[in-house]
Amino acid sequence: MTNQPRSVRVQYLVVGSGAGGAITAVELARAGFEVVVLEEGARHGLDAYGKGVTHAMQTLYRNRGMTPILGSVPIGFVEGRCLGGSTEINSGFWHRMPPEFVLRWVSQFGINDFSVEQLAPHYQWCEEQLKVVETGDRLQKNSEVFKRGVESMGWSARAIPRAAGDCVNTNQCASGCPQGAKQGMTRNLVPLAEAAGCKFITNCKVKLLLKAKNRVTGVLAEIKREDNSTDLVRIDADHVFLCAGATQTPALLRRSGIKSHVGDTFQIHPMLKVSALFDEEIDAHKSVMPVLQVKEFWPDIQLGGSFFSTGQLAMNLSDNWTESQHLMRDYRKMATYNVAVRSTGYGSVRPARFGSEYAILRFELSDVDIRNLSQGLARLASLLLRAGAKSVHPCIQSLPAITSELDAVKWLDENLSRSSLSLTAVHAFSTCPMGERRDRCAVDSYGKVFGFENLFVNDASMLPESPGINPQGTIMAIARRNVLNFIANKRG
Ligand SMILES: Cc1cc2nc3c(=O)[nH]c(=O)nc-3n(C[C@H](O)[C@H](O)[C@H](O)COP(=O)(O)OP(=O)(O)OC[C@H]3O[C@@H](n4cnc5c(N)ncnc54)[C@H](O)[C@@H]3O)c2cc1C
Repeated sequence: MTNQPRSVRVQYLVVGSGAGGAITAVELARAGFEVVVLEEGARHGLDAYGKGVTHAMQTLYRNRGMTPILGSVPIGFVEGRCLGGSTEINSGFWHRMPPEFVLRWVSQFGINDFSVEQLAPHYQWCEEQLKVVETGDRLQKNSEVFKRGVESMGWSARAIPRAAGDCVNTNQCASGCPQGAKQGMTRNLVPLAEAAGCKFITNCKVKLLLKAKNRVTGVLAEIKREDNSTDLVRIDADHVFLCAGATQTPALLRRSGIKSHVGDTFQIHPMLKVSALFDEEIDAHKSVMPVLQVKEFWPDIQLGGSFFSTGQLAMNLSDNWTESQHLMRDYRKMATYNVAVRSTGYGSVRPARFGSEYAILRFELSDVDIRNLSQGLARLASLLLRAGAKSVHPCIQSLPAITSELDAVKWLDENLSRSSLSLTAVHAFSTCPMGERRDRCAVDSYGKVFGFENLFVNDASMLPESPGINPQGTIMAIARRNVLNFIANKRG
């Protein structure tokens, strides 16, 4: 590493190229501004995708897919670290925000100019761009059985629209879609931004924001070369948009001394997985994950499907391995589903020592979260048993398999024990809440960091609280709204 960082000057700097960063870059570049995106991860072509989960964890995931969220119930968290961010490894499920939430956020956080009608054109633009479509007309077996269970419970299940119109069910969402059917940012918005003149610098991690009074003057970034040697570069910028995601944006801000309401209200969608054994062959390892979700208890409790592989199944069964390992022989008759809850508990994000890769994530489940997970398990297990499952195996230590609806419904009234839960999460937000309420928000109604003239947050961090839905659509719609507002103001 050189001692004196080289320095470069750019007009508009975007940090991170995921859902928030890609749309920010596209709109700034299309407006004719000079834009550079710095992305910590590498650029990969489709030929590097779909090479299995282990390979993907090394190339596309932060911390090789093993980021702990600390708390009385430790939670396994994953997020992307590559060009395109988490959109490269997600499943492309797409939602618009329930109107009730839009109103609640206005009421609770004082967000200006924020309504279903005002967000609609931004959702629509993204949906057209990412070819978001409903895929319910070609259900795979893991979705079909789920639908059977839902109908038997008298509920309604909706096939969730996905940003994967040409999906051919190869079950490789989590390791990057090698067909390019899933519209991660590298398929779509990154090329659009590049065509408009935007430059993407990959393997470039922003370490620190440089400040002078109420302005950010640029960043200090580390560029990694192919031989793993690094170069420290100072990049001066007129405007900086932070889109490094809900864990890294607050870590970077705090490391740079910007702390007011930053990283103090970390929320996630805690997820409890269950594996179900059927009489019939499901072949979930060859199918895209179940695409139906139950909306009856939504947005507080969501019942849906999970990614399935034999390795993942072994991990899910490992909570009760002695009793459950024999099920591995029946993997073709098994499928994985989950209960995800809209957390009401809070946590924090703090940077680890300067130079370290890690942000320290903490989260505590509230009693309401435990209640929702328990009731969600009761309902999901009942649904799966009605769908024909012989047994349901939750990721809960020392909990015997659920084989009867009577065993299942007891969780409507009893609480699962915290110490036995094995939970995971893939959705994170609200570490820099947006709104005009200075007593609880880090950024204003359009993502500008309070106290700074030229620093913006435009990613999952700005969602003021857990939305209870798959968040990519909402992150992109709000990010587009914010950046277009910025451009309009610039043009005066
Ligand atoms: C396995 C998985 C499945 C999911 N499934 C769905 C789904 O089906 N539907 C849905 O709506 N949502 C889903 N999500 C969530 C969704 O993908 C994220 O909420 C969304 O991508 C977040 O957008 P973002 O811009 O905040 O962050 P990201 O998309 O994660 O992008 C952040 C980017 O910033 C980069 N970065 C971080 N720190 C720095 C730094 N210091 N310097 C430079 N670059 C940096 C990262 O490498 C990353 O590329 C899923 C997520 C995962 C992990």
